[in-house]
Order: sequence, then C-alpha cells, then structure tokens
Amino acid sequence: MDRREFSKHMLILGLGARAVHAAETSKVDIHGGDYYEEPAKKLPVRTFDVVVAGAGTAGVVAAIAAARQGAKTALIEVKGYPGGTATEGGTALHSFYNLWKAFPGVPKRQVVRGIPQEIIDRLLKVGGTSGHAEMSEGYNYDSVCTCIDTELYKLTTFEMLVEAGVFVCVNTLLAGAIMDGSRIRGVIAESRSGREAFYAKCFVDCTAYGDLAAFAGAEFTEPNDYPVVNSVGMANVSVEKYYEFLAKHNAVSQLARGLRSGKDDQIVRLDGRTAKLPAGFRDGARKIGMSVVTTTTHDNYFMFIKLNLKLPVSPTNRDEVAKAELELRRRMAKAVELFREYVPGCEKAFMARTSPKLCIRRGRLIACDYDITRDDVLEGHHFDDEVMVYGFHDSAPRLQIKDGGTYGIPYNALRVKGIENLLAAGMMITSNHDAHMSTRNTVCCMGQGQGAGTAAALCAAKNCGTRDLRYRDLRDALIKAGVYLVA
Ligand SMILES: Cc1cc2nc3c(=O)[nH]c(=O)nc-3n(C[C@H](O)[C@H](O)[C@H](O)COP(=O)(O)OP(=O)(O)OC[C@H]3O[C@@H](n4cnc5c(N)ncnc54)[C@H](O)[C@@H]3O)c2cc1C
Repeated sequence: MDRREFSKHMLILGLGARAVHAAETSKVDIHGGDYYEEPAKKLPVRTFDVVVAGAGTAGVVAAIAAARQGAKTALIEVKGYPGGTATEGGTALHSFYNLWKAFPGVPKRQVVRGIPQEIIDRLLKVGGTSGHAEMSEGYNYDSVCTCIDTELYKLTTFEMLVEAGVFVCVNTLLAGAIMDGSRIRGVIAESRSGREAFYAKCFVDCTAYGDLAAFAGAEFTEPNDYPVVNSVGMANVSVEKYYEFLAKHNAVSQLARGLRSGKDDQIVRLDGRTAKLPAGFRDGARKIGMSVVTTTTHDNYFMFIKLNLKLPVSPTNRDEVAKAELELRRRMAKAVELFREYVPGCEKAFMARTSPKLCIRRGRLIACDYDITRDDVLEGHHFDDEVMVYGFHDSAPRLQIKDGGTYGIPYNALRVKGIENLLAAGMMITSNHDAHMSTRNTVCCMGQGQGAGTAAALCAAKNCGTRDLRYRDLRDALIKAGVYLVA
C-alpha cells in the first residue's frame, strides 16, 4: 500500500467510527471497495447515574448540578478544557437580567442565579470577569455586560466540576450510543486510553450539535441559518484609544464600564457603527465579515473580534468546514492588519487567542417534546413546568421580550422527543429562528444546563424516565439550589 492508499484507508477507518450505519451494511474488503467493515470488539464498561455529553456552556452547569444532587456523574468533552462556545465565540454573557434599562419604570431583576451566578462569583475572586457592568450606551440591547476572562473561565469551571465530584473526561470524543429500544443504555467514548462504554440511567446532551441525540436516533434538522465564525483575541491594543477612535467618528453604539485589570469603572464593552468609520476600515471590515464589538477584562486586550463566513451547506459537512477554517484564519490575520493600520493605539496589535475551531450559533436542531415559539419568547409566556426564567433577546431593540419582562423555559422543551432517558440543553433546542435568537444565548444555555442536570439526577435516583419525573420534585430541587423561578 503506498502512502496515498494508506491515508485513504485510514480516513475510511476514521469515518467508520462515526458513520456506523454505513459500515454495518458493508462487506470486509481491505484492498478496495467503498466500505471497510469494522470487526466487533469488547469494550470496557464504566457505570454512572448520569452522563453529560459536552463540557461547554450548558454542559458544565448540567454536570455540576447533577453531581450536587448526589448522582454519580461523568462529563465527556472532546477538547482539553471545559467552557465551550462561551469561551470561544461570544463577547459578553447575555444576560443574567431582564432588559430593565430600556423600559423606564420596569424594575431591575436578576433572573438567572444558581450555578451560573456562582461561576461569576468565583471569577470575581480571581479577576476573571467585569462583573455585571451596566451598559451606558446601547442599553436597549442589553442592560448589563458580563464579560469573562476566557482562560480563567476554563480553569474556574474545571475546578468547580472536580469539587462537585464530577468524573471529568476531557480529550474524549463521544462517538456513539448504545440503544435498548428507545432507551439509551450507554455511550461510546474514545480517547487515547481506548474505546470505552459509559453506561448510565439518564443522559444529558450538551454537545451543541446534538451528537448524542443524533447517535441515539432522535429527530433533527440542520437549518444552516447562521454564518460560521472564528474570533480573535487581539493584544497590545489601547481600549481607551479604540473608544476615542469610535467617538471621533460618532460611531459608538455600545459602551459599558466595569472591572478591568483590577480597577473599577473601566471600559469593558465597546461596539461601533461600522458604516460611520473611515472608508478603508469600513470596506475592509465588510469584506472579511468583521464585527467591531468587543469586550475585555484586561487593559491592552480586545477579547473577541469576530469574523463571519456563510457556508453553502450545513456545518456538519467536514470538507466545507475545513475550507472555512482556513478562510477564517486568513480573515483573522486581515482583521489585525486593519486595526494596526486604522485604529490609533493598535499599531503593534497581534493575535493572542483564536478559537480552536470555528463556532456557529446553530448546528443540528434536535426535536424535543415542546418547541419554544416566537410568541412564547416575545410575549413573555410562562409555563407550569419551567426550569428557568430568561429576559434577553439578541435582536433587541428590533425584537424584545414584552415590556422588559421574562419568559420561561419549560422542562418539556429539554426532553428529547422519542428517547426515554435523554435531555438536551443549549443551542440545539428551539426551531424558530427568532425564538432561538434568545434561547441560544450563553446564560440561557447555562440555566437550561442546571435544569437538565438536576432533572437527570432526580430521574436516576428515582429510576424513572424523563417523562415520569414529578415536576414538583424538580422545582423544589431547583429552588433549593438557588434558581430563580416565578411564583
Ligand atoms: C460567534 C458567536 C458569537 C456569540 N456571541 C454571544 C454573545 O455575545 N453572548 C451570548 O450570550 N451568546 C453568544 N453566542 C451564543 C452562545 O455562545 C452559544 O449559543 C452557547 O455558548 C452554546 O452553548 P452550548 O452549551 O449549547 O454549546 P457549547 O458551549 O459549544 O458546548 C458544546 C461542548 O460540547 C463539546 N462537544 C461537541 N461534540 C462533542 C462530542 N461528540 N464529544 C465530546 N464533546 C463534544 C464541545 O467541544 C463543546 O465544549 C454566540 C455564539 C457564536 C457562535
């Protein structure tokens, strides 16, 4: 076998691990043919009460919540750290509060508390967040800006997981589901320690793309309704001079002051109207899909400058994604060049951080028992079985939750349709684009994670399916854990 043939063979082997259905229908032919049939293999088994797939924005909170309920919990994460898109895609964590500042007379309410707030409290102790900094410009978009030091977020959440007693498996890919009818018996995990089966009573899919739900045979669609994005953390810049640059062109659209490099009342969020900026910068930004919003918790650092690219196909297409990964890296380099050339104080800027892979606001959309509607969000509907309350919409001020109020996320919106013991949390729920523009935001994903992790632990303790859990028990457990729910 020459090198090219060997590579092709290895590629098919790799695909075989994920494309289980394709491999099942084939005949062994090591020298040619379209498929290679994997021989059956005995895998070591580990047994848990709850397995959470994906240690991202929702998964971290889900696993902590499950473990704190006393469930023996495993968390499976393909990367080497927890944090997910909160540390790789976004700018500020939207939002712990209702949009009170945009509605005179509406009271300020912190509507997401519990474990998400604990993460912020821990970050405050290590200088890893701006705190809940009030917006002074653009407050009809969000009333606060809560920005994080992405690296301290990874460390802090990792420590919280270990303290809660979660068995944290990083550098581990969830590669399959073991089904017993409509019940998941276990999942297949792959790491350098080998291929293993993780059995559990209840599972939570927090993989963002719904990998576990898809492996389990749940219904899903791939709307491909957002661009893919990578974001660059730019260092050796002047936050104050960037503000002056935007102000000089009358372009400041968002501003918040909070904790930065240990000092209060510093600029921590800035956004600008690109159309008002000098032609060279404006046109260059448009060409590479660059947005000029950024947040920071450090002097001399812009945490996220985002570059967008619309893919012609779903982001689950490996080969299209590979092309986009390269193009976005070119765009990030160009973004730094633009800042160096046009923005005073950024003459010696450089790329200090990029995301390990591109991000997207929605990959697979997983069908759940209830699908939160546009009206539910915009009209501020509350439900009899809600696990959290939320008050932010990413299209504000164009689309806002009525009267600066809130809506609820019902438990049945987290139950994966057709599977007895699988819950979902994060950006994979909610089919309506305008509703999803709210439910996919970080703080909503975190709150969903606490709801799903708590429910999974209760189901495991009671040995029941997710549909047999008494809502009263879930509500009591959430309230006891500090979750805000309307009376
Ligand atoms: C470019 C961009 C900008 C955004 N800006 C903001 C913003 O400013 N504010 C805001 O609040 N929200 C923002 N969002 C939305 C928000 O960040 C995401 O919707 C949210 O973080 C998603 O959380 P999640 O838990 O669903 O997924 P993630 O946080 O992505 O977590 C999924 C985790 O699962 C892991 N995983 C996936 N598949 C597997 C597998 N098979 N095996 C093991 N592990 C796996 C991943 O590595 C990851 O760690 C933005 C999103 C994007 C893409």
